[in-house]
Amino acid sequence: MNRNSGRGEGIVLIHPPAAKACEAPGGPARLAGALRRYGIACRLWDANLEGQLALLTSASGDTNANGGSDAWMQRAAKHLPENCASLRGGKLYAKPDSYRRAVADLNRLVAEAAKPYGVRLSLADYEAGGLSPLRSADLLHAAAAPDTNPFHRWFRERLPEVMAETPVSHVGFSLNYLSQALTAFAMIGLIRRAYPHLRIVLGGGLVTSWMRSPGWRNPFGTLVDCMIAGPGEAPLLALFGKSPDGGCNRPDLDGFPLADYLAPGVVLPYSASSGCWWRRCSFCPEGAEGNPYRPLPPRRVAADLRALTKRFHPVLIHLLHNALSPAHLRALSVAPPGAPWYGFTRITPQLADPDFCRRLKDSGCVMLKLGLESADPGVLVALNKGIDPAMAAAVLENLKEAGIATYVYLLFGTPAETPEAARRTLAFTAEHAEEIGFLNLAIFNLPAAAPEAETLDTGEFYDGDLSLYRRFAHPRGWDRGKVRRFLEREFKKDPAIAAILRRDPPLFTSNHAPFLVMAAARGGRKNGGAGS
Ligand code: SF4
Repeated sequence: MNRNSGRGEGIVLIHPPAAKACEAPGGPARLAGALRRYGIACRLWDANLEGQLALLTSASGDTNANGGSDAWMQRAAKHLPENCASLRGGKLYAKPDSYRRAVADLNRLVAEAAKPYGVRLSLADYEAGGLSPLRSADLLHAAAAPDTNPFHRWFRERLPEVMAETPVSHVGFSLNYLSQALTAFAMIGLIRRAYPHLRIVLGGGLVTSWMRSPGWRNPFGTLVDCMIAGPGEAPLLALFGKSPDGGCNRPDLDGFPLADYLAPGVVLPYSASSGCWWRRCSFCPEGAEGNPYRPLPPRRVAADLRALTKRFHPVLIHLLHNALSPAHLRALSVAPPGAPWYGFTRITPQLADPDFCRRLKDSGCVMLKLGLESADPGVLVALNKGIDPAMAAAVLENLKEAGIATYVYLLFGTPAETPEAARRTLAFTAEHAEEIGFLNLAIFNLPAAAPEAETLDTGEFYDGDLSLYRRFAHPRGWDRGKVRRFLEREFKKDPAIAAILRRDPPLFTSNHAPFLVMAAARGGRKNGGAGS
């Protein structure tokens, strides 16, 4: 059904709550760049940032007016303006204790604002007591009863203002995290009722995963006009009767309130590819979902980044790739983008070259996120990571030597892992603790679509038709409970590892880690040290 009323051709692209409000979202920025180049009106709306700031302000106002429930709430309410200002300034990141206190205070305020709705809200997550984002029936319920959402009061007031700014025919939601799903649907429900002539489009990483799951059947047909899997540029252009001309689309941040993010300046999100160039790791959804690898030519990436840096003056570039390819890393080392940068990459022979790591540092690389997963050779082979512990050790050493921080991702409880293998990972991590900046620890989830799932004894993981994972009986009895106990009682208790974990920025984790690294380096230089 064509619901276009003819009131204006264009789209509002919405980044719904809740997600970390520390940088402009990359997906809508990329789409805006493409749509605007074809002359299609596109209003970017970071409803996540605005909504969180509105909840913070109202919780602080209520507490200041009514006295607050306890001393912590009173402190959080009183210091809201200065905590936001410090997170937007550079100095706080050099004082880890003050940084933690500011983040904890903001978090307490948003949590308190959502409590009356039975929602556990944090600066990074959203959990509703009775509703699950894994159940389509619950998402439809959220759409039918938007007033049960903690963002509803703000959203109901703000929506008409946004709609009045740009006459549009479409509203697009970029849905990437489970923590956004219930509020996105609450917003969809409200828009559907208030603006029945608008066409609603839903895309993003989470929607792509739903649509590429085995047995996907669209349960949202009555609510959403169009669902898009994968990169949205071509399907969105098609909605407006245009086809891609193969020209250069650059992300466009115009319309995002760049000074309001909880970061010390503009963070430029940029992606030079979709999919993953490696795509061989077993159990990785990238392979299981069949997402094709589509890279931009390295020269084009270098030119894009230089142009975007000139235009937006970022304090940091966040490269959003699943894994930066060796060709893209080489291009960055040859043509620095002109601002500090960080991103995810694989451990490869390229990074085992100390000279190359130094060139990367000179190009502005502050931090690399590395998926090591395990330090057990057998587990690495079973996971098809294409790396071994010796290469990982050399890479960590070179990056440390070059002054590039590392954010290392470990994955426990994979089907090939045993308690002994997990202890080898512990020993490796402790041995290389000096070279590891930050750690992310995860327990393995089995993607429902992974072909390897067929070799395992599996069952439902979560009670929900939209669940992307399956429960499985670990072939060696190394189940989630045992893994969790190992992590709590052994892994995190190791003194060298505990010291790394204490460094992790609470809630903002890898998004704020580069700021801590840069602040420490500035402090090191001031004190005559090398810094890293
Ligand atoms: S490198 Fe990362 S994204 Fe690529 S296949 Fe492996 S786990 Fe998946």
